Amino acid sequence: MDEEVFEKYMKAGEIAARVKNDVLNRVRPGMRLIDIARFVEDRIRALGGQLAFPCNLSVDSTAAHYTPEPPDTDVVEESNVLKMDLGVHVDGYIADTALTISFDPQNEPLIEATRRTLDEALRSIRPGLSFYKLGGVIEDTARSYGFNTIKNLSGHSLGHYQIHAGEVIPNHRDRLTRGSFRDGGAYAIEPFLTPGIGLVADSDRVTIYALRPRGKLRRLSEEERRLFERILGERRALPFTLRWYAEGPEEYYRLKEVVEGLARRGYAIEYPVMIEVSGERVAQFEETVVIYRGVVYVTTRSGYS
Ligand code: MN
Ligand code: MN
Repeated sequence: MDEEVFEKYMKAGEIAARVKNDVLNRVRPGMRLIDIARFVEDRIRALGGQLAFPCNLSVDSTAAHYTPEPPDTDVVEESNVLKMDLGVHVDGYIADTALTISFDPQNEPLIEATRRTLDEALRSIRPGLSFYKLGGVIEDTARSYGFNTIKNLSGHSLGHYQIHAGEVIPNHRDRLTRGSFRDGGAYAIEPFLTPGIGLVADSDRVTIYALRPRGKLRRLSEEERRLFERILGERRALPFTLRWYAEGPEEYYRLKEVVEGLARRGYAIEYPVMIEVSGERVAQFEETVVIYRGVVYVTTRSGYS
């Protein structure tokens, strides 16, 4: 990793940290999820970042991959466990970070345990540490607070314009996971904790997609090709929501049919909304880590945390 790349990772992280701080000061029970998502996404752009993926707002047993879609009537309830996962990039260098909030003190033990589990994991990271050992730290810390981690959700290495760059950082002591932290690497560390059994399954709802860039577009209809090219120019293979491309609900659901067609023929990937299988609440915290010249930097934290 050269200095220019390091600086871009740091800048993306700084923007993400500021946006987290700003949104924390704003969210109140009764707010619409769509207004929170728009605030986050507008704020990222206003601070000079680009969107690495749509703002994910996953409530209670929904663990990940939900971004608001029309009719946009969902609001945050006082009892909810709301996970907010946001992604910033600067010239393709990504900051991926998440936090969980609730206005109900009953949820505080779960949220606090998840925060501390991530802190413990971040303290353990050094070049050469194997990913499965970090998974062990995460699993043991979560257990010490009486919670399970979600075993089929993981952290990951980050690459240029790539959110999942190939390496998996498990949230449990998974000896089948190869690889270790190395100097010059960028990683997202993201424990998910739950009082449930600790597994998620895909639901049949999809609100987030990514394109699979490929050459031959001849097989596509005119409408499919136009949408593919429009999104590709802006997003490459980064995830997107059709919210960004539709004027209103009607166009949103029409474009959704088009992108579903693209997915069926291998030109797009769907990221289904994931639900904890025992129906229990899920909390998540996530930070991005960059190892530069032997030093571990948590890019997505600023002075306040
Ligand atoms: Mn994330
Ligand atoms: Mn992530």
